[in-house]
Amino acid sequence: MTVYSHSRLSAYENCPFKFKLRYLDKIKREEAESIEAFVGKRVHEVLEKLYQESLLTKTNTLGDLLSSYDRLWKENWNDNITIVRRKYNREHYYQFGKKCLENYFNHYQPFNQSVTVGIETKVNFDLDDAGKYKITGFIDRIAHVNGVYEAHDYKSGSSLPAQKYLDNDRQLAFYQIAIQKMWPEVKEVKLIWHYLAFDMEMVSSRKPEQLENLKKQTIGLIDQIESAREFPAVESGLCNWCEYPDLCPKRKHFFIVENLETNSYFQDKGVELVNKYAQLSVEKEKVEEKINVLKEQIVQYAKNEALEIIKGNNHKVRVKTGTRIKFPAKDTLERAALDNLLMAAGKWPETADLNTASLNKLCQQSNWEKELIAKVREFATEERTSSVYLSELDEYEEE
Ligand code: SF4
Repeated sequence: MTVYSHSRLSAYENCPFKFKLRYLDKIKREEAESIEAFVGKRVHEVLEKLYQESLLTKTNTLGDLLSSYDRLWKENWNDNITIVRRKYNREHYYQFGKKCLENYFNHYQPFNQSVTVGIETKVNFDLDDAGKYKITGFIDRIAHVNGVYEAHDYKSGSSLPAQKYLDNDRQLAFYQIAIQKMWPEVKEVKLIWHYLAFDMEMVSSRKPEQLENLKKQTIGLIDQIESAREFPAVESGLCNWCEYPDLCPKRKHFFIVENLETNSYFQDKGVELVNKYAQLSVEKEKVEEKINVLKEQIVQYAKNEALEIIKGNNHKVRVKTGTRIKFPAKDTLERAALDNLLMAAGKWPETADLNTASLNKLCQQSNWEKELIAKVREFATEERTSSVYLSELDEYEEE
């Protein structure tokens, strides 16, 4: 029986192909750690130490925390850590993690806002009574204050989400379910995110019916994952941090050519085909622009000379001009007013899905009352049209 976590479920939602590689095919790529993940781990380790030692009555100073951070950074740094955002370097990220810790320390010292009851606590719970759907996870810190339990989560990202996003967040809502199962007497659970870089604490909570809905949705998602036969690769901003570019049909070619020398790069069949296609597409666009200008000149010439067909060497051009009745397009205020008129006249069922051309035909051919047709026509505008058709000369037309 598979035990799911929030990150495992998210992996499927974000890209089923990556989910398959990681969780079903179990292809390990541990060496590719992003610098963002590296900074996050170091910051979490320092905050874990802070609260572990607080439990044992040792108070850390800011200097203690920063020297732990520096030591953990140096001990864990390795050359496989990847920096995707090239405008930032290792030092920028080091300082970023340091700033996260300084913000936290200055905000919460002496760290007595609540009583810590769990640090990096592993939680497991079932979504259903039969125990078929199992969830696991780690809560950064569990605390309580005046009978209210708190699930704390440290975030070291560089963007701050909107409150409504957090009000729908699955991960901490899972933790609320876990806390209520661990301590059934708990009356209230607060979900608290610490966005460290912004020195922001964001809070949410879930009502019992919201948790029931979440359980149902998650069971549905797990059923979907377990019955999936296709695992499409879904591109997103996350691709830049994906550890499987060499196996992914959407990124494999990038991966191959990125490591080629300039000469081999331009000789690559794929690069050659795409370059040629791009070049021809640009040329096609330019030719189409020229054709449009030429069409306008032909229409003007035909008008000036009172011609309907113009002869060339091997071809002729037929010019057709006329007028077209146009009704307001759907989703406009004018169309809404026209729809109201048709509804009031009891004509809505036969006109609801009509485009402007069919509506015009209906006005001309139907047995609607003259008055109604006149009112509908008030919404119409007349548009001049001209078309140009090219064909070969037939044998009698050639000189
Ligand atoms: S590179 Fe993107 S599309 Fe390909 S597997 Fe990774 S996340 Fe999915």
